[in-house]
Amino acid sequence: MHRSYDLWIAYMENRLPEAEREEAERHLYVCDDCLALYLRVVDQQSVAWEEERAKVVTAEVMDTIQSQGQYSGAKLQMRRERRRRLIHYTVAASLTLLLMSSGVFQQLMSYTESWRNAYEVADQQKVPNAEKVMKHATSLLEGWMKRASFN
Ligand SMILES: [Zn+2]
Repeated sequence: MHRSYDLWIAYMENRLPEAEREEAERHLYVCDDCLALYLRVVDQQSVAWEEERAKVVTAEVMDTIQSQGQYSGAKLQMRRERRRRLIHYTVAASLTLLLMSSGVFQQLMSYTESWRNAYEVADQQKVPNAEKVMKHATSLLEGWMKRASFN
């Protein structure tokens, strides 16, 4: 007894009851027509499966590309940029502390003091130069901090 196309699909997908499956199998050995039909089913189904799998893979790849390109990528870029700026700020702050502790600022202050004495005698502002330097350094650091945290 010849089998239908649908039965061969069921056979291939292992949906047949045990007895029916064995009977169909035995028929395959003796019937060239059914063997040809079965092979066509296998061929068509495998193509369908390949297409289905290709669609899934494509969708996954597109999702990955989109999420990386539009969301995660931008976020990651932002995080990298922020970290880079934080490193710059840390280096600058450390350098400032180092300069202050090593006496470079004191030298700079005394230089500024003599420069001030020479050119700003008329200056009525009696703000100590040390304070000016500190204010300048602080505003510089504040600027770096702002750029590091808000951009
Ligand atoms: Zn047959």
